[in-house]
Amino acid sequence: MQDIMDTIKARDAGEREFHQAVGEVVASVKPVLDSHPEYRHHKILERLVEPERVILFRVAWMDDRGHPQVNRGFRIEMNSAIGPYKGGLRFHPSVTLSILKFLAFEQVFKNALTSLPLGGGKGGSDFDPKGKSDNEVMRFCQSFMAELYRHIGPDTDVPAGDIGVGAREIGFLFGMYKKLRNEFSGVLTGKSLNWGGSLIRPEATGYGCVYFAVEMLKTRGRSLEGKRCLVSGSGNVAQFTIEKLIGLGAQVITLSDSSGYIFDEEGIDENKLTFVKTLKTVRRGRLKEYAEAYPGAVYTPADPDAASNPLWRHKADCAFPCATQNEINAEDAGHLVAGGVHLVAEGANMPTMPQGVDLFLDSRVLFAPGKAANAGGVAVSGLEMSQNSMRLRWPRAEVDGRLQMIMKNIHASCLAAAEQYGMPGNYVAGANIAGFIKVVDAMLDQGLV
Ligand code: NDP
Repeated sequence: MQDIMDTIKARDAGEREFHQAVGEVVASVKPVLDSHPEYRHHKILERLVEPERVILFRVAWMDDRGHPQVNRGFRIEMNSAIGPYKGGLRFHPSVTLSILKFLAFEQVFKNALTSLPLGGGKGGSDFDPKGKSDNEVMRFCQSFMAELYRHIGPDTDVPAGDIGVGAREIGFLFGMYKKLRNEFSGVLTGKSLNWGGSLIRPEATGYGCVYFAVEMLKTRGRSLEGKRCLVSGSGNVAQFTIEKLIGLGAQVITLSDSSGYIFDEEGIDENKLTFVKTLKTVRRGRLKEYAEAYPGAVYTPADPDAASNPLWRHKADCAFPCATQNEINAEDAGHLVAGGVHLVAEGANMPTMPQGVDLFLDSRVLFAPGKAANAGGVAVSGLEMSQNSMRLRWPRAEVDGRLQMIMKNIHASCLAAAEQYGMPGNYVAGANIAGFIKVVDAMLDQGLV
């Protein structure tokens, strides 16, 4: 195991987030490798950590002032053992090869857990949509797709949205793909409803995360009714996590964006949530405005030099980190435990740092890693692909029912795998092991390719 980590650290030097994601999986699957010598014999871990293909390209586009701009585009085609590569595109200035490789690696296991035939991939760009006009975003998306279209297709690689890529960006990307290929197909998911999108796709990641939390609470005879919840983020995942929490009678008291966070002691109700949706999705404004609209709420600007995030210091029962990776460090995790939090469900990908995860597990907090808790988004993307192939659309209740069933099944698979390998109740180990076995068995079936 140590040899594998040493090799990755030497070969992929500086890819900190990728090392972090691989390190967690490698530690979890040790008992599986111990009882399956054939996996070691076939060097399955060494094969799993190497992307099948990495595409890196220039994205040149013209801004509104007539000045040329250059960004970097990526697509990581990580693993196609159980289906076409599937995973979102992220447009954010922090995007690097390391971030996308960690996300693609996580995606492989997440997609396997959904039980749908989906391989794993991820892509994006260091382009920042914030502060750009619609025309600039369109020109960027068109230039991005002018290269990406050669590498993707409905049976090859099917991207979706992620941070900075929502309905607007998916529309521009799809339009360019269709023009270049002269083909109307399910090559992207997260499409608008009137041209191939699925009902419940926008809600799926947030709703699914809450459905997973409900299942975890059931194991201790508890529910979300009346629970005080901390949520971070205010984008797609955070908004629909909050919507479902409110629907199930919980009280949500925080939300955040990259500039700061809101503490609303009275709780975020449906009207306030509608305000947030319009603010973040339509007006693309800053969360500070929430405190101006609702004077009972307190806004605290982000301090990049602070050792911990004050959002996680509020007393609560449950926490749903839904913004970005590594947003809960060991100190934050300590505050959450001390503040009474007994459930953490990750809406974002890898928001908790390894020492924080260890602390939650040691403190018997019900802890759901992102690859299990936020799998609802890719699951409904998989259902969108099925509907596109059949050229029909399922009703809202049917898609929501399938999503609930998928989340229940993921929960059950995580618990069963953790139990089987001697780590009962450990959802981190359970998710890694269940996803791992499905993918590596398919890889062995398909030979050394
Ligand atoms: P959005 O772009 O809709 O929202 C992201 C939110 O996180 C915004 O509030 C943004 O603030 C905040 N944020 C982003 N980067 C940072 C940062 N570096 N520091 C603090 N806050 C930050 O993205 P999504 O809601 O789609 O994605 C959120 C997370 O969920 C990501 O980890 C993503 O990978 C994961 N995820 C998303 C899925 C989906 O279906 N969309 C599926 C599965 C996982 P601001 O407005 O200031 O930019």
